[in-house]
Amino acid sequence: MARFEVPDGWQVQAYRFALDLTPAQVSAMESHCGGARFAFNHMLSHVKSVMDQRSAERSYGLDGDELTPPVGWSLASLRKVWNGRKDAVAPWWAENSKEAYNSGLDALARGLDAWSKSRSGHRGGAAVGFPRFKTRARAGKSVRFTTGAIRVEADRHHVTLPRLGRIRTHESTRKLARRVEIDTARILSATVRFAGGRWLCSFQVLAQRAIGARPAHIAGSAYPVVGVDVGVKDLLVVAAPDGTEVARVPAPRPLRVAQDRLRALQRRAARQHGPYDPVTDTRRQPSKRWQRTQARIGRVHAHVAAVRRDALAKATTALAQQHQVITVETLFAAGMRSKGGARKRGLNRALGDAALAEIRRMLGYKTVWYGSELVAAPRFYPSSKTCSACGGRKPNLTLAERTYVCEHCGLAIDRDLGAAINLARLGDTRTGETGTGTGSGPAAHQQGGKGRGANQKTRPAHAGTAGGCEASTRHNTTSGVGQTGTASPQGEAT
Ligand SMILES: [Zn+2]
Repeated sequence: MARFEVPDGWQVQAYRFALDLTPAQVSAMESHCGGARFAFNHMLSHVKSVMDQRSAERSYGLDGDELTPPVGWSLASLRKVWNGRKDAVAPWWAENSKEAYNSGLDALARGLDAWSKSRSGHRGGAAVGFPRFKTRARAGKSVRFTTGAIRVEADRHHVTLPRLGRIRTHESTRKLARRVEIDTARILSATVRFAGGRWLCSFQVLAQRAIGARPAHIAGSAYPVVGVDVGVKDLLVVAAPDGTEVARVPAPRPLRVAQDRLRALQRRAARQHGPYDPVTDTRRQPSKRWQRTQARIGRVHAHVAAVRRDALAKATTALAQQHQVITVETLFAAGMRSKGGARKRGLNRALGDAALAEIRRMLGYKTVWYGSELVAAPRFYPSSKTCSACGGRKPNLTLAERTYVCEHCGLAIDRDLGAAINLARLGDTRTGETGTGTGSGPAAHQQGGKGRGANQKTRPAHAGTAGGCEASTRHNTTSGVGQTGTASPQGEAT
C-alpha cells in the first residue's frame, strides 16, 4: 500500500466529534454502512469461489494458464473487479457514495492481507483467521471518506461530507476549525462510525505542530525526573527520586458509579426475550425491548469510556508538560486480566477501569510533543516489591497490602508511593545529565547486579512521525503512524 509522506514539522492527528444526524441522514448513513458490508461480502464470496474453483481444477490435473485466473487481493484489484460487477449485483449502487463500497473493499483487502501474512509467518501476534462474512448484527457500522467535499464549516457546528451534505455536530468543532482557518491543519479523511449509541466523525488531519517544545505558559516542575506508578486505587502516583510525592491523581471510578445502573440493566435484559432460547438452547429473534436494553447498556459503557479517557488525557498532558523524564512501569495488563477467572474479577475490573495501557500510549506521543522523555521500566522490574529506603525485597507482596512494611529497615510507606520513588530512581540512573545523581537507590542495584536497565525510550528523532491520534481504526494510507512504536492510534483500550 502506498505510503503517505508526512512533511517535516507536521504530523497526523485525529479530531473526533459526535454528530447530530437528522432521521433522513441516519438512514443515508446506514445505507452507506450497508453498502460497505455488501461490497465486503460480495467480493469475499467471489474471492472464495475463485479459490475453490482453482483448487478443484488442480485436482483434475490442470495447471498454469489452464486454471481460472486468480483475483488480486489488493484494494486496487478488488475495486476493479467490483466496478465490473456492481451494475449486475448491486444495481442500486449509485444511491451511496463510492467511498462506501471502497470502505468495505479496503476492509476486505486488509483482512486477506493479514490472513496471508499471518499464515506465512510475516505477521506477529495471534494467528489471524480467514475473513468471515459480515452479518448485520456483528459488523460495526463505519464508512471512511477520503475524497470529495470533506470539511468543517465556518459556523463551527456543522461538518460537510460527500453525498450526506451538511451535518450538525453535538459539540463545537472549533479546535479543528481554528487550525484549518489559519492553515496549520489539513483534513485528509473522515471516518463516520456508530458507537455507544452515537454517530461519531473522526477527521484524520495533517497538523503542523512545534515538536519538542513546552508551551510558553507552562512552568516546569521543581522535579525534572519523576516516576509514575499506575495504581489500582489511585490512577497515578507521581514521585521524585528523593522520595517526595509530587502528585496523586485519584482514579475516577466511572465504572463503579455506573456499575449499579449496569447491573440493573443486565438483570432486566436477562428477564427479557433475548437472542437465545434457554429451554431449547437455540437462536431466536430477540424482542424489541431486549434490543432497547442492550442499546442502553452500550450507552453506559460508552459514557464510562469517555470519562476515563478524559481523566487520563488531562493527567498525561500535565505530566508530559511539566517534567523532563517520566518513568513508568510496564504492567502486563492483558495477562493480568485474562488469568484467574472469577476469583480475580474485582481486581480485573479495576485494572480494566484504570486503562493502564492507555496511560503509556498517551505519554508515548505527548512526551514527543512537549520534548520530555518517557522511560519504560523492564516488564518485571520489581518496583512495588522493593524497599525505597534500603533496597530490600519482599517477593510475596499481595495487591491487598496497600502499605509496604520493610522487613530489613522497618520502613512503612504507601505501596504506590514506594513504587513511584523506585521508578523515579530508575529513570534518574538512566539519564546522567538531567539526573540528580543519587545512584545508590535500589534502581542502581538493579542496574549493576542483574543488568535490568530501563529498555525503552521515546526518541525525538521519531518526532516527524509521532502522531497523537484518537481515531479508533487504523488507516494505512496515511503515513506510518500506526506502525511507529511511539504512538499507536488505538482508541478504547480493550
Ligand atoms: Zn527497607
